[in-house]
Amino acid sequence: MTATQMPTMVVFDLDDTLYEYEPCNTAGKDALFRFATEELGVMSPAFEQAYTQARVNVKKRLGPTASSHSRLLYCHEAMELIGLRSEPHVALVMEQEYWRNYMLAMELRPGVADLLQALRYNDVVTAIVTDLTAQIQFRKLYHLDVAKLIDHVVCSEETALEKASLQPFELLAARVTSSALDCVWFVGDQDFDAPVDVLVERGVIKDGLGFVHGSSGQDRVRPWRTVREIEDQLDRSASPSS
Ligand SMILES: [Mg+2]
Repeated sequence: MTATQMPTMVVFDLDDTLYEYEPCNTAGKDALFRFATEELGVMSPAFEQAYTQARVNVKKRLGPTASSHSRLLYCHEAMELIGLRSEPHVALVMEQEYWRNYMLAMELRPGVADLLQALRYNDVVTAIVTDLTAQIQFRKLYHLDVAKLIDHVVCSEETALEKASLQPFELLAARVTSSALDCVWFVGDQDFDAPVDVLVERGVIKDGLGFVHGSSGQDRVRPWRTVREIEDQLDRSASPSS
């Protein structure tokens, strides 16, 4: 594709793309471990180990599906591992505690709001394709206050398998007009956020370009460090002669 072609749609990943994941996950886990110490009387190193093991167990059992990220399941499994009874209401409170503190720590990456507004100004369709359950991802979008600038959201809970299977991207393609699929840009933090080559091969999109944090082995994917770089690319595409 030509670098100067305007995108017809831009597909964003959510976690660690629109905001930085690690500070949020740390804030959530800290609150969770505090709760375990104060309310369950389980000291932090023990609970932390149980939580880590619980996450491994849940992911191993469920494979690449949305509920494999469920903090509710991690908390429930962690309590079983440390020999507590299954207490559904405690697991629910813990999950709430995790996500409440996670979302309080969430901040839109610099440049994201500007880029979304520039896309809207240029009549480019915007979408989010993300792995995890819809309930949590919708709440994140509400907290980040970007939902009004996004035309379509697909969560992997809506498909059997996660993004690496391409199913969520295929669902998005089925939901948009065919003209939106002419030149699709993908913005993410992992290779599987921008499966440009394979989507073109399969005829899901006509053409496209990917932007992935760090490096990538794909022809049509470039690395990005700041969101501003992607807006610069959009500016160059909007006025290719300059
Ligand atoms: Mg991500």
